[in-house]
Amino acid sequence: MAIEHNWHDILWREWHFTHDEVYAEQLHFALAKDDIGQPDLTDAVQGRPLLPEVEAALRQGLRRSSSVRQFWGGRIQRLDEEKAEYISVGRSVKDLSHVHWFRRFLGRHLLVEIGGHAVDALEKVAYGPNAFAKKDARWVLECIAADTTARLSGEPENWICPDCWVSCGPLWIDRPWRPDWQFYGCRHCQRSHQLFHSTQEMVAVLDNKGQGITFKDGLVRANWFTRRTLFDFDRVEIVRATDEEVERFAVQVGNDTDSVRRPRYPHIRCTIAPECSLSTNTLRILRNSFGHVEQTAS
Ligand SMILES: [Zn+2]
Ligand SMILES: [Zn+2]
Repeated sequence: MAIEHNWHDILWREWHFTHDEVYAEQLHFALAKDDIGQPDLTDAVQGRPLLPEVEAALRQGLRRSSSVRQFWGGRIQRLDEEKAEYISVGRSVKDLSHVHWFRRFLGRHLLVEIGGHAVDALEKVAYGPNAFAKKDARWVLECIAADTTARLSGEPENWICPDCWVSCGPLWIDRPWRPDWQFYGCRHCQRSHQLFHSTQEMVAVLDNKGQGITFKDGLVRANWFTRRTLFDFDRVEIVRATDEEVERFAVQVGNDTDSVRRPRYPHIRCTIAPECSLSTNTLRILRNSFGHVEQTAS
């Protein structure tokens, strides 16, 4: 059902399931005052709504109900302000056991926003000594698993981490005594938010006069010279580079152990700009690294 119609059911379910009494009271104030829907306990079989669902329901409530606006308007604004700033994983994890319920609320919602980068810190709390924070940490982890799977599992190879230039893949949340939870994030750093969506190819550009990564109409062009380490790519374009530089790149490719990238190399096309003259030996090394190597005509 669309959120315009069931936002109050979602908030009543959150009220029903949360173990945070003060927070439950705050939800109750806002919902009971306008006599919004009624807590439908047959609905409870659906379980606790995920954190992103609760947030969407609160935002919908702001539009539909004056009492939700009155109690939650400033709080959601505060949440948005915190999201716009740098979000500290350490502080947000500490906030899960803060004395004030609203900081606990902020902690949960900021951590699910951070996603994969917060997983390691959350795992420590989830199986640590603090009984209260533990429950919330496990809940946030479950929400990260569900949220990143919903957003990224359809085409993980098309979601690119802007830090590592590496695509997403399935990762694991450790749960002692029970099956691990799967989530999705950057294969290198676990990042799962603010990713590039690449709908075309990723091109590795070798241009020793160029820098950085560009992103246009879903096409990603990343210059190897920016960091001189490997990243994901579907095609290679050598624009300006010396024999030594190309060889260093080829050696990295030859030594690459990444299980996603390795099988791609024999199919990768590598083009060399007409004005870039490489030695026969360098060309031979490139032919050993990639499926198709050609100098483009001027
Ligand atoms: Zn990354
Ligand atoms: Zn991050």
